[in-house]
Amino acid sequence: MTAWVDTKLRGVLGGRTAGALERGLGLTTVGDLIHHYPRRYAERGELTAIAGLHDGDHVTIVADIASVTSRRMRAKKGSVLEVLVSDGTDSLTITFFNQPWRERELRVGDRGLFAGTISSYRDKRQLAHPQYLLLSDDASKTDDDQVDRFAGAIIPVYRSSKSITSWQIQSSIGLVLDTLTADAVPDAIPDHIRSDLELVDVVTALEGIHRPSALSDVERARHRLAFEEALVLQSTLVERRSLSSGYRASVQPAAGSDLRAAFDDALPFDLTEGQRDVGSEISIDLARDVPMQRLLQGDVGSGKTVVAVRAMLDVVAAGGQAVLLAPTEVLAGQHAAGIRRLLGPLAESDSLMGGGLDGGTSVVLLTGSARSAQRRDALDAIASGRAGLIVGTHALLEESVEFHRLGLVVIDEQHRFGVEQRAALAQRAPDGTHPHVLVMTATPIPRTVAMTVFGDLDISTLAQVPAGRAEVTTHVVDPSTQPRHVDRLWERAGEEIAAGHRVFVVCPRIDAKDADEESETTSRDVATVEEVLIQARTRLPDARIEPLHGRLSAEEKDTVMAGLASGAIDLVVSTTVIEVGVDVPLATMMVVLDADRFGISQLHQLRGRIGRGSLPGVCLLVSSALHGSPTRERLDAVASTRDGFELAQRDLEIRREGDVLGGSQSGMRSSLRLLRVVEDVAVIEQAREVAEQILDTDPGLTEHPQLRAAMTTLDAEQADFLEKA
Ligand code: ADP
Ligand code: MG
Repeated sequence: MTAWVDTKLRGVLGGRTAGALERGLGLTTVGDLIHHYPRRYAERGELTAIAGLHDGDHVTIVADIASVTSRRMRAKKGSVLEVLVSDGTDSLTITFFNQPWRERELRVGDRGLFAGTISSYRDKRQLAHPQYLLLSDDASKTDDDQVDRFAGAIIPVYRSSKSITSWQIQSSIGLVLDTLTADAVPDAIPDHIRSDLELVDVVTALEGIHRPSALSDVERARHRLAFEEALVLQSTLVERRSLSSGYRASVQPAAGSDLRAAFDDALPFDLTEGQRDVGSEISIDLARDVPMQRLLQGDVGSGKTVVAVRAMLDVVAAGGQAVLLAPTEVLAGQHAAGIRRLLGPLAESDSLMGGGLDGGTSVVLLTGSARSAQRRDALDAIASGRAGLIVGTHALLEESVEFHRLGLVVIDEQHRFGVEQRAALAQRAPDGTHPHVLVMTATPIPRTVAMTVFGDLDISTLAQVPAGRAEVTTHVVDPSTQPRHVDRLWERAGEEIAAGHRVFVVCPRIDAKDADEESETTSRDVATVEEVLIQARTRLPDARIEPLHGRLSAEEKDTVMAGLASGAIDLVVSTTVIEVGVDVPLATMMVVLDADRFGISQLHQLRGRIGRGSLPGVCLLVSSALHGSPTRERLDAVASTRDGFELAQRDLEIRREGDVLGGSQSGMRSSLRLLRVVEDVAVIEQAREVAEQILDTDPGLTEHPQLRAAMTTLDAEQADFLEKA
């Protein structure tokens, strides 16, 4: 990696700007900054639509000044300047307190960029004390040389923050680009590929994306940069895949052990056809000497756990150990309990590893918060091989847990685990061998996403949900237009509880302090566990109600989960800790407050917590999101179907649209900045082919050092991709 890209911004831009870039956007190096691409472009002459802006959005808009009024405030001494800005159809009020001099600067008819956070005052949207930059033709009106930057026809609009505006970012990038030479930025795309595919070089691309003179410059630049992202990612995946085909599996169980047969016999239900088919695919993989790398996708409630346990038992029967990794402690605890229950007497035996295996196995739970004595026991059971089935959180990965003979790793609910973590697992098998890996996900994955994120895995799909599963109806409730429905909702909760059922009430936050990371985009109040708990206890005085969230200790969480299962607790007010996997058959009602705070797949996962037994369920998504807004569209989509695959596709389509000017959606940083899985299918496929070609002729990439370098620095963030996109 060339030093230039890693140069600290402090040295290039000066401390104040560099500090603001770091605080506001997490950008610290020249490389970070030049890869901070504009979110959109405003063509000169074009105004930003004001109608689509919502409370709490941090925005940068282009608008005309329609009127300027200044008045004295009666109550307090002081003045307020109100500037009405317009996009030609809609308007927004900008207010400044005690800055009367701005009246001289802001003239009716002027056009400007205004940046700030939208808020409401007396039901009207406003921007209080925004930063602004007038796009005047008369350079003498502005304080520095800023006007130059808008000489071009196209104004880039960057994701910005309170500490730094879009145009300050633009000017910083301009400074950096001015020093750019062709050899300063290494080109990850090999020259011959670049010329074959007619892609522009890096420097041209960076100029084109940041300082375009026409939209066609942006298009060419974007195409090249997206291809580069796809190529680096695909090369990583292709290489990983070809490496793993050279590995030896640590155990190779023949299909169908007696242990598994005993398990199947004792199951209280028949396996679905899908479970059997996927089971056979897995058996074939396990028996090979190359370790399995398989993704099992199946909608919420499709019965993935049973499939996993059957594979785990085959591995145990062959003298190996099998690990099940869950994303949270609650889930790990629940999996351990569930597996013990499913195994019944088969879980009691301690006599394991190397003889008499078909008698059963012992199940051990290891999480980060286990107390030291417990922990020592568990570690000992794992190291000695006494434990055949090991359940835990990724604490199992991070620490140097010693395994007796690790044969299979099952990763549940993949989206918290990246490729890097999967690779780390490989180190845990004995003498240079590798464990089989099965990744399970309830987030159905469209093909291109699978290729992008899990391109190194084979894929199995559980298409059906076991028969006899109860109905769940979903409604969106808008408290601003349907206040009576909110009362009704609590009554309904009371009725469910009276009937002996359980209720989940989900809030976006624990308490007021528990602000979002991107707190500046969330000035609006959202429901907190703390407040709703009080409300619930007031509304339902006879119900037994407890909170559940990530700040409770593992024991407290366990107690709540156990209480829900046993019936000692009727209702929990929780955060999304219950999102994945939590299995309470008597849960029949779920209320999601401020449901617009959650994405489609998250809501689908949440809803998957009810209607798991034979009892029908009701799910209420409470939100004041406006009818027809992208947010409301998301909620309506969730209400319209329970088919996770359909929702995943809808999700991808809607996300593409609902992109606001501000910084509300994208993650802080991601190695995939431009690549979009819906639109860039062709790019991804082409990159896959090219990556295969390159690695085929140059497996060690010795002739492609710059591609290698880019692969090494690739952030391990692909796993978060579905959540961020
Ligand atoms: P998920 O795929 O969401 O992880 P689980 O594995 O937790 O689903 O299964 C959901 C529920 O369905 C569990 O209570 C499980 O015991 C039950 N189940 C699994 N397979 C079947 C089946 N073939 N028939 C009936 N119930 C099943
Ligand atoms: Mg599950």
